[in-house]
Amino acid sequence: MARGRIQKALSGFYYVDIGAEILTCRARGRFRREGQSPLVGDWVDVQELGGGQGVVESIMPRRNAFARPAVANIDQLVVIGSVAVPKTDPFLIDRVASIAALKHCDVMVLLNKCDLDPADELFQIYTAAGFPTLRISAETGEGLESVRSAIAGKLSAFTGNSGVGKSSILNALDSEFHLKTGEVSDALGRGRHTTRHVELYHLSCGADVVDSPGFSSFETDELNLELKHRLPETFREFEPYLEHCRFVGCSHTKEAGCAVLEAVRTGSIQKSRHASYLRLYEELKPLQDWQERKK
Ligand code: GDP
Ligand code: ZN
Repeated sequence: MARGRIQKALSGFYYVDIGAEILTCRARGRFRREGQSPLVGDWVDVQELGGGQGVVESIMPRRNAFARPAVANIDQLVVIGSVAVPKTDPFLIDRVASIAALKHCDVMVLLNKCDLDPADELFQIYTAAGFPTLRISAETGEGLESVRSAIAGKLSAFTGNSGVGKSSILNALDSEFHLKTGEVSDALGRGRHTTRHVELYHLSCGADVVDSPGFSSFETDELNLELKHRLPETFREFEPYLEHCRFVGCSHTKEAGCAVLEAVRTGSIQKSRHASYLRLYEELKPLQDWQERKK
């Protein structure tokens, strides 16, 4: 029996990296009967059959699992923003950060294109909120060494609004990356990933990344109700205040004696983060009402 990690899943085959080689595996039929299916990112035990073939026998307990893209055990979501065109709405970063918290993922914020704009405001917001935040430039290479050490030894997923420089950063981190992902360039020289399946890639700095189109849109319908119920705790810097609101069940939106609102007033919590909280709160509210009426 060998222990390894699923790098890729394609047409019923699992490609399991056991260190010395990558085995092409089927999964035991038992998994399907038990309603479980191995995911890219899973640590598994594999029975070797020889000739590079194997059978997935068991799946180790997961840190987390995502449905779209189908991947498990993401350690860290790397959220990319920029203040140069296209300008990132902090709400997008906050939304991803909340989902990450639900899924027990760490979050790192990369502010790209700092050769064009130092993104001072975003840097201040996310540093104050307690996220590791780096100012970088895929163009000049600034900050990339710090990114490499922050992702080494972990499985990270990169997300960000289109045009923010996700492909440029991955290519700058590892010059062989574009070969691995089958990038093609259009007439303007902009990268387009042609990845259609989910796959883990090893970067030369010792990091694993999952590069999937799904992570830019982040399908979250399945998570919305859970997010609604746990919203305050997904804003990490609210945590010290949540126990100190005057009313049990405080929504931290407008109540008298709300410790979160007081922290926003005194500047201990960033206004922009609380504004995103309010926006998510409002977005999720009708969904829950509808769900409850159905019962
Ligand atoms: P993606 O859609 O997030 O993958 O974005 P791309 O990597 O395709 O980058 C979009 C555009 O921004 C391209 O024209 C890149 O050359 C440019 N770009 C990416 N990173 C930087 C940067 O750090 N500085 C500057 N000036 N341009 C960048
Ligand atoms: Zn409150």
